[in-house]
Amino acid sequence: MKTTVKALVVGGGAVGTSIAYHLAKAGWDDVMLLERDELTSGSTWHAAGLLPLFNMSYATTHIHKYSVDFYKELEAETGLNAGFAVVGNLRMAQTQERMDEYMLYASTAETCDVPYEWMTPDQIKAKWPLIKTDDLKGALYHNTDGYINPADVTQAMAKGARQRGVAIERKWQADAFQWNGDAWEVTCTKMVEKGGNLIPSDEQIVITAGHVVTASGNHAQTTAKKLGIKIPAIPVEHQFIVMDQDPDLVKFRAEGNVEHPVIRDADAQSYVREERGGWILGVYEKNAPAVFEYGVPDAFRADLFPLDLERIEDQYMAMIHRIPSCEESGLKDDFNGPICYTPDGNPLVGPAPGLHNMWLAEGFSFGITAAGGTGYYLAQMMVDGEAEIDMASLDPKRYGDWMTTEFAARKNEECYDHVYILHHPDEERPACRPLRTSPAYDRQAARGAQFGFVNGWERPNYFAPMGFNDHDARSFRRGDWWQYAVEEAKAIREGVGLIDATAFTKHRISGPGAAAFLDWFTTNKLPKVGRINLTYALTSHGTTRTEYTIVRIAEDDFYLVSAGGWHAYDQDYLYKAIMEKEPEFGRINEEDVTTKYGVFAIAGPKSRDVLLDVIKDAEPETTLSNKRFPWLSSKKIELGMCPVNAIRVAYTGELGWELHHPIEMQNYLFDLLEKAGEKHGMKLVGARAQNWLRQEKSYRAFGNELGRDATPAEADLPRFIDLNKDFYGKDAMVEKGIRSKCVTLLIDGPDDADPWGREALYAQDGTRVGRLTSGGYSVAFEKSIGLGYVRPELAEVGTTLKVRMLNELWDATIVEDSPYDPKNAKIRVDG
Ligand SMILES: Cc1cc2nc3c(=O)[nH]c(=O)nc-3n(C[C@H](O)[C@H](O)[C@H](O)COP(=O)(O)OP(=O)(O)OC[C@H]3O[C@@H](n4cnc5c(N)ncnc54)[C@H](O)[C@@H]3O)c2cc1C
Repeated sequence: MKTTVKALVVGGGAVGTSIAYHLAKAGWDDVMLLERDELTSGSTWHAAGLLPLFNMSYATTHIHKYSVDFYKELEAETGLNAGFAVVGNLRMAQTQERMDEYMLYASTAETCDVPYEWMTPDQIKAKWPLIKTDDLKGALYHNTDGYINPADVTQAMAKGARQRGVAIERKWQADAFQWNGDAWEVTCTKMVEKGGNLIPSDEQIVITAGHVVTASGNHAQTTAKKLGIKIPAIPVEHQFIVMDQDPDLVKFRAEGNVEHPVIRDADAQSYVREERGGWILGVYEKNAPAVFEYGVPDAFRADLFPLDLERIEDQYMAMIHRIPSCEESGLKDDFNGPICYTPDGNPLVGPAPGLHNMWLAEGFSFGITAAGGTGYYLAQMMVDGEAEIDMASLDPKRYGDWMTTEFAARKNEECYDHVYILHHPDEERPACRPLRTSPAYDRQAARGAQFGFVNGWERPNYFAPMGFNDHDARSFRRGDWWQYAVEEAKAIREGVGLIDATAFTKHRISGPGAAAFLDWFTTNKLPKVGRINLTYALTSHGTTRTEYTIVRIAEDDFYLVSAGGWHAYDQDYLYKAIMEKEPEFGRINEEDVTTKYGVFAIAGPKSRDVLLDVIKDAEPETTLSNKRFPWLSSKKIELGMCPVNAIRVAYTGELGWELHHPIEMQNYLFDLLEKAGEKHGMKLVGARAQNWLRQEKSYRAFGNELGRDATPAEADLPRFIDLNKDFYGKDAMVEKGIRSKCVTLLIDGPDDADPWGREALYAQDGTRVGRLTSGGYSVAFEKSIGLGYVRPELAEVGTTLKVRMLNELWDATIVEDSPYDPKNAKIRVDG
């Protein structure tokens, strides 16, 4: 057995096997896969094998699509038939709301080239008469997916991997990981069978590996302990039952009819497919418990839990309603196995936090569907430095150190329970909340705040009258909350509003090497002392890794503000870069001050008036004037008794300041501003209105327009890129050129809906030319607005495109950047 390899993949389920295969295919010739038991002995062996293309996320849809295409080619390469039954997938809707959900999904599917069709209840009935359709509104049909045999597809990938030189070693467990400065030294233990259990023997070896990938399935918590990190992947029980033959189905097939597609009755939380003349019913039921929170016991191998029929009774009855002919079929077999989940349902794929050359591929709940694509895109990240799609939404660092076992377990149960709920884009999930609150949380709640969940933080989405029910207000169209966001947006455009932006990620970078480091790390010129700038850290491929607002406090002292949702993600990249460059640039101190400072953003034409009422200064009337406090500068000021680092910027594009204050003084400051704001009609404003307002100014948002699939040049931000200096990723960015370009669009959409930023864009001749990455409503223009990427030749002001919303095409005109106040006169107004 080899003891030195370039890459060691830990875990021989569908995911690990695909990663090993794709690393070899991408050109790494020294790859080993280690499995503590037998290949597929984890969750893979008992999966139902469905391969649903349907997915609301852009990145995950790409991953699933790759898998479905790849599995079809695998037999030709390996000679092994993985039993891919391309029977299609029929998603039925019992309500108009569900149809709306499918219509939003369909537009996203188009952006990823995923084919789909609409079916009416009559069309379904005509093709599959065993399905009861009289209570259906319609259905979405994918004819290119279906189901596969999970063990066979894994074995086919393993064969393909071996053919490409991968060494696959079974009955070896990776037990300890030590980084020696150049490579990982992985202590591995030979596993032996004893009394049906799999236990470690005394035989150990150390494998030296340049890179390690863990794909340990249900063992993720044990892996996390071994690595000294947190991984919020904890399994939940998942059941499906196999039923005896249904005579009507047998007859239907004997008459020469094709197999039924996988039937998804989302409103009944179940999926159904044929199995040898009978049916398989799989469910996403309520109260499925999390398991193995602290690790998998030795005695649990390729095992199952006892069936809990009572838990799935509702779904079982719903199946009899949908396919009445199955009523007499008995129960033939049952599967209740662990299925790994994460708090948001996306797997954790990418670099491990704080560790070099350590990669995670954990937390897969659709691991058979995702295995192929995960292997493909993760191999790109490892071999080339980046994947061709932005993998941020799957990054393992989207949960920070605040995450606990209890949080992950309860959130994962909720995620399982929510698989088939209506996934409104304005969805908020209730479990484990409130958890991270700014001090003014209670005050804002008492004023009607409806909170959103951002990286654990509670952040107001909007403010509504007391008793308003956010859950009932959600919609795929304009929800009942919409009018409140309109009022808030207008308050900022016409008067003054106050936004809690405490969740921002904040770092202080100082020391003799700080300036040289940041100059190299980011695209823009560093600001002068007392000034601020907006700038970007890039990936090795020249695409956007992080957006920073940098405040220069002193020559060698900087305050960095980045997106609140991406704290650990930003920090990991920053700290790893500092560690690498410190020997070159000199001492660099880093301090995470995220929870030390609260932030209020005050904005609107009357924002200066509110602040002037409470500011303490020898000459208060001029403290906030353009002369003493110009736009894009920062100053220490005193508001009543609260010391504030004020920054003159406003993400809403109005006159405004961000007020960074000691977090323990937040309630004092809130009360002070609220009282002062009363006579100016100040309104509390939430994130939804802010999101609309920033689109009127064409301000790009991280995670929407800004990410690892586009460069800041493609985001059309030349004023924040200093091509006269050297910065990390510059050459790659320049070399990429402009593949597609970010534009702002005003949209003549339907009367009752705005885009959400996931919709496909078309040229007038019907060809698809891009996609929206943000969407909303513009109070200034009284119509829908969006930002998105289109082919560069179309990115001309005045070009009229079409956007698909609610299954129709609507006119969308490209407008100049910052259609609201293009000269920034309002932001710069003096006083
Ligand atoms: C009832 C049920 C039905 C399902 N149906 C579907 C479906 O229809 N479609 C779908 O896409 N998904 C389905 N799933 C989910 C799917 O089974 C999983 O997402 C998938 O199998 C995960 O694959 P994996 O490779 O990540 O993990 P696993 O298959 O669990 O593999 C992990 C492997 O790592 C090994 N390992 C762990 N630690 C170590 C170590 N330290 N050293 C060496 N080896 C180690 C384990 O022994 C194991 O073999 C279903 C799950 C269940 C429970």
